[in-house]
Amino acid sequence: MSRFLSENYAELKPYTPGEQPQDMQYIKLNTNESPFAPSPKVIEAINKQETQKLRLYSDPQLKLLIKEIAAFYGISESMVTVGNGSDEILAFSFLAFFSGSKGVCFADITYGFYKVYAKLFGAKAVQIPLKEDFSVDIYDYAQRSENVVIANPNAPTGIALTRRELEKLLVSNPNRLVLIDEAYVDFGAESCVPLCKKYDNLLVVQTFSKSRNLAGARIGFAIASEKIIEDINKIKFSFNPYNVNRLSTVAGANSMADRDYFEKCTQQIIKTREKTKSELCRRGFTVLNSSANFLFAKCGKISGEEFYNRLKEKGVLVRHFNEERINKFVRITIGSEEEMDILIQKTDEILKGE
Ligand SMILES: *Cc1c(COP(=O)(O)O)cnc(C)c1O
Repeated sequence: MSRFLSENYAELKPYTPGEQPQDMQYIKLNTNESPFAPSPKVIEAINKQETQKLRLYSDPQLKLLIKEIAAFYGISESMVTVGNGSDEILAFSFLAFFSGSKGVCFADITYGFYKVYAKLFGAKAVQIPLKEDFSVDIYDYAQRSENVVIANPNAPTGIALTRRELEKLLVSNPNRLVLIDEAYVDFGAESCVPLCKKYDNLLVVQTFSKSRNLAGARIGFAIASEKIIEDINKIKFSFNPYNVNRLSTVAGANSMADRDYFEKCTQQIIKTREKTKSELCRRGFTVLNSSANFLFAKCGKISGEEFYNRLKEKGVLVRHFNEERINKFVRITIGSEEEMDILIQKTDEILKGE
C-alpha cells in the first residue's frame, strides 16, 4: 500500500478472481466459461470494417445491443441497460440503491463480489446463512427490512429457487428492492424477467459471459422497470458513458440474435452436466443439484483442497474456496464432453492413489 491510498480503502479486501494461468495448457474448469466458441454470426460480424470503426467512440446509448436484448425477452427497450460485464451492472446497482443507510442482505455463501461492493460503496451488508442443505430460505429475507440480492441459481452451489418463491419475496415488501443475479439462469432455472413488468421493486441482472460464450467480451445487462433503469443510467453516465466497447456491442447483438446456437450450447451443457454428476455420484461424491454450468461436489475420501491440488498436478483446474462451510467442496465448470471424460479419468487415478 502506498502512503497515498485513501483511508477509506485501507481495509478493502478485493475480490479474488479464479486463476487464469498463462503458463501451461490446463483443462480449465475453474471460472465457468463456456467450452464453446461464440456464435458463428458473432465471428463473422467482427470483421475488418467494424475494426476500422474503432477510431470512433461506441454508442453511449448502446441502441443496437439493447434492441436485441429487448426483442429476445419481448420487453420495451426502456427496461434494459448494458454494462461492461454484469459486474459493472452490479457495481452501479450497489452504488445506486444500496449505499448508505438502507443496506442490503445476501447469503453467507454466494457470489463473493457482493461483499466487496458493499464495502467499496459503503453499503451496510447483512449476511444470511444458507440452510444446512445449502438452499436459500426465502422467509429469512422476507422478514428483513434491507434490500436483497439473490443469485439464482446461486453460486457456487448451483441450487435454484423457483420464480414463484421469488415472487413471494417481491410481494412481501414492495418498498425493498430485490436484485436477482441470473448469471446462470439459462442452464435450467426460471428467469424472473417476466415479472419485471409487474413489480417495480425487481431488478434482474444477466451476463453474456456464461450461456452466451462471451466472457472475454465483458457484457452484462439489467432488466427492470423504466425508473430503475433510469437510476442505473444516471450512475453510468456519471462514471463512464462509453462503458461497452464497439466490438463487444456488435458481438453481443449478434449473439442475442442467434437463438438456435444459444439453445444448442445451453442444452449441450445441461446434458453434459447431468452425465458428469452421475459419474461423480457413482464414485461416492456428494453433488448438489445444479441448475448452472457447474457442479459443486464433495469427495468423501480426500479433502477439497487436496482434490483441487491433485487435479491441478494432472492438468485439470477446478475452483476450491477456502471458506468454512464449503471447504470440503470443489466447484467444477461443465466443459466439453471430452474435457469431462478427462476429469473423470483423472479423478479415478486420484482415488486409486496414482
Ligand atoms: C460470473 C458471474 C458474474 C459476473 O459476470 P460478468 O458478466 O462476467 O461480469 C456475476 N454474478 C455471478 C453470480 C457470476 O457467477
